[in-house]
Amino acid sequence: MPLRDFFFPPLCFSCNAKLPDNENRLCSTCWNSIEPIGDEDRTVKVLRERFCEGGVIHDFVSCYYFEHDGVLQKIAHSLKYQAVTVFGRELGRHLGEKIATCGNFTDIDAIIPVPLHRLKRRERGYNQSEFISRGIADVLDKPILASLIQRKKNTISQTHLTAEERAKNVEDAFEIPKKAMPAVKGKIFLLVDDVITTGATIQSMARVLKEAGAKKIYVGSAALAKLE
Ligand SMILES: [Zn+2]
Repeated sequence: MPLRDFFFPPLCFSCNAKLPDNENRLCSTCWNSIEPIGDEDRTVKVLRERFCEGGVIHDFVSCYYFEHDGVLQKIAHSLKYQAVTVFGRELGRHLGEKIATCGNFTDIDAIIPVPLHRLKRRERGYNQSEFISRGIADVLDKPILASLIQRKKNTISQTHLTAEERAKNVEDAFEIPKKAMPAVKGKIFLLVDDVITTGATIQSMARVLKEAGAKKIYVGSAALAKLE
């Protein structure tokens, strides 16, 4: 046992239970308490229809429901604001495994995390979606293109906006630098976000890539906000 573990025995981040040696930060009971997403769920059907109507997103996959005050909210919050990046990678691995088993995303050329505006990134020090992307790449063995597309608008927080306001907020939020254009043409991408709520952000990003000549766009998120 490392000396550090003697003085500070590793505890579950969420429930404080003592962790067995093979568990990392979150106990298996807490992991298992997070509601998984089923392909036939209403939330999935509504989002799939919305993406299909938009005409730029070919398919999407997500792992868990984001519940207020649930374990996943604690993880997502810690990932965003307390730099507990290990959870991002772990969520990414779960997502990567789901993608690998579904067998529908086999033609991906590269993974693109939803970028933060450079000011927000500087303030936070990292982009949480990049860690999720690394977890996916651990499983799928695809390259991550974190700076292919940039966020030119430092959009306001979307938490209290309506669906319509969200769409307006992220309109023209993304751009591809000229020198990156050749890397987009004819390619198939998986865009990665932490939590998808209305899908407005990811649709706006997908549109820019599609206009630049991307062949196909898939979307993956660690979590979805469940529709009531
Ligand atoms: Zn626990």
